[in-house]
Amino acid sequence: MKTIWDRLTKGKTCSLCYENLQKINKIFYPPYSYQDNNLYLTDIHYICYECLQKLDTLSFLTNKFTHNFDNLPQVPVIYTGSYKGYLKDLIIRLKYFKERELAIPLGKLMAVTLMKYHEKSSLKNIFLSLPYDYIVPVPLHKERLLDRGFNQSFLLAKVLSKELDIPLLELVNRSKETSPLKDLSKEGRQNELSLAFTLNSKKENNSKSRILIIDDIITTGSTILEITKVLEKSGCKNITALTVSH
Ligand SMILES: [Zn+2]
Repeated sequence: MKTIWDRLTKGKTCSLCYENLQKINKIFYPPYSYQDNNLYLTDIHYICYECLQKLDTLSFLTNKFTHNFDNLPQVPVIYTGSYKGYLKDLIIRLKYFKERELAIPLGKLMAVTLMKYHEKSSLKNIFLSLPYDYIVPVPLHKERLLDRGFNQSFLLAKVLSKELDIPLLELVNRSKETSPLKDLSKEGRQNELSLAFTLNSKKENNSKSRILIIDDIITTGSTILEITKVLEKSGCKNITALTVSH
């Protein structure tokens, strides 16, 4: 005899591993889907129990992941988990194996992390609005965008915008293509990144806003620092960064 759970999960697959759902899942995802960078309402998304375990989701749901970077004394950085294990695999699949659909569960995990950060997980707080006027993705240079076909930070930002009901604004442009930063010293990174970002002049009237910057990974914080400088110059206040991993 079929249980209610059997009926609910019939034909449903995990958003991360694509296996059929077997066990009762702890996180329920409302419906979204991507096509040509657009977000469409479709089926319901889930994460299976095995994936939740691999993501170490129990600690993720109970801890606040924040980090203080030397570079960023005044910018809170919130992230979902460490860049290792299953979470690292997921980011690599999204970026390099071009599994765009993964931006949906990852974006939703970021949303849950942010709600947790603002202690909005209880019913009492859930209807209070979050202190952000705009969600701003870290931009990709045109050439790299052509190469990859999409900007993973933009995809994540789109999910978060929908999820949190905060408008997405492409407030920053990447005007200079930078070399991979991971092999450079701190000074090298800052030199490489200086003048890499400019304010999108078409959106400039939206200054004095509270901004949530979205990226997939934060390593040293240099990229976020440079974007923060550009935003602050235009009058933006209360800048926070949210990433999948650190
Ligand atoms: Zn799974």
